Amino acid sequence: MVCYENIEYASLSDVGVRRSHNQDAYAIVPAGDAEQWQSRGHLFLVADGMGAHAVGELASKLAVDAIPHIYAKHAQEGPLVALRRSFLETNVTIHTRGQQNRDFQGMGTTATALLLRPEGAWIAHVGDSRAYRVRAGSIEQLSFDHSLVWELARRQHISPNELQHIPSNVIVRSLGPEPLVQIDIEGPHPLESGDLFLLCSDGLTGPVSDREIGVIVSVLPPAEACRLLVDLANLQGGPDNITVLIVRVGEVAPRSGAPRAAASPASATWYERLPWPLLALFLGIVLALGAIALTYNDWPGGMPMFLLATIALVCGMVGLLVQSHADKSATEPPPEMSPLRVHRRETCAIDLPYVQRIAKALSTLETRIREQGWEASWSECRRHEEEAERRQKSGELTAACREYCRAMHVLTEAYERYRPRGEIFKPLWETMVK
Ligand code: CA
Repeated sequence: MVCYENIEYASLSDVGVRRSHNQDAYAIVPAGDAEQWQSRGHLFLVADGMGAHAVGELASKLAVDAIPHIYAKHAQEGPLVALRRSFLETNVTIHTRGQQNRDFQGMGTTATALLLRPEGAWIAHVGDSRAYRVRAGSIEQLSFDHSLVWELARRQHISPNELQHIPSNVIVRSLGPEPLVQIDIEGPHPLESGDLFLLCSDGLTGPVSDREIGVIVSVLPPAEACRLLVDLANLQGGPDNITVLIVRVGEVAPRSGAPRAAASPASATWYERLPWPLLALFLGIVLALGAIALTYNDWPGGMPMFLLATIALVCGMVGLLVQSHADKSATEPPPEMSPLRVHRRETCAIDLPYVQRIAKALSTLETRIREQGWEASWSECRRHEEEAERRQKSGELTAACREYCRAMHVLTEAYERYRPRGEIFKPLWETMVK
């Protein structure tokens, strides 16, 4: 079970390069103590508003305010019910507000929630913001995009990547436009030590690839990873608002509901280790045979021994029934459970060619900044680069990648400070991902 304080998280929301308003919003509502961890867990939420400027902002703000509040109110009814109610009631609130004013018509927002609880992670989701899990060298998308592209791909049984000609920004489901909306709720995804979760708006996933996201989240602490991801999206032209929220799960102890077979024998008490129902049945049979022998030979004590045999046999059979029921319930999933799905998975393992590509991308960006005569913290950049080269030589690829990312951050900061608005630095990205 994860202790309630055993997580680390960070978040960042940025207006981007092209937009004047930030219509994204997010909320973080951690459990305040062990009791709250058990009863409600930690709730994280990202929302991306739609509509004319103020309307989109209002919609996403309503979502991040209302969803945690309604969830907390109904948390005792279980995560599935509480999450569904929080999304449905918030949809009604936004829809009603949208009907009050002509300017507010079509007001809507995406909403993607991550709920961490002792039994695992729950995802509740509407729209095309995303929830990812990064684990063991893979980045997995846990949310289904409610976009035209993904819906068409689902109907045609093909990958969304094969529908490049369809505009990616058309979304088919969101909170607000309709009085009723279908909510995707999935979980619990059991937690493992070191699991990383990332929620984000499409301002990140448009410009930055899944693999890049996975690598950066794997090598940098959450706050640094948020910063670099936002910088990279902006480096690509920052066409939209960018919101990133990263959660790192610490050490996870075995779950209390784990199958008995998985428990160490030393941790079981003596009566749990003893197969007492079988012993009782054996004793019952021995006593019954004894009773038959006594009765057959007309010796006294046959009847009491027969009664004892009956008691032992009944106890043994009841014991067997109880144990088999307990074993079954220990291996069964919790009753409140929806299907466990990973909608897309990509490797984000760090190998030597990949580290070399990042190093090359870094030197391309460095050349570009020097050519322009822009100021950057060159000594800091060089320090990270040298450390990266040293780590790379000694085969510590993750550490090398981390230092290259840190050097990259120094340069993206400089680039953002000086570059003309709207300029896109394509070569960097193409060098990095190809
Ligand atoms: Ca957006």
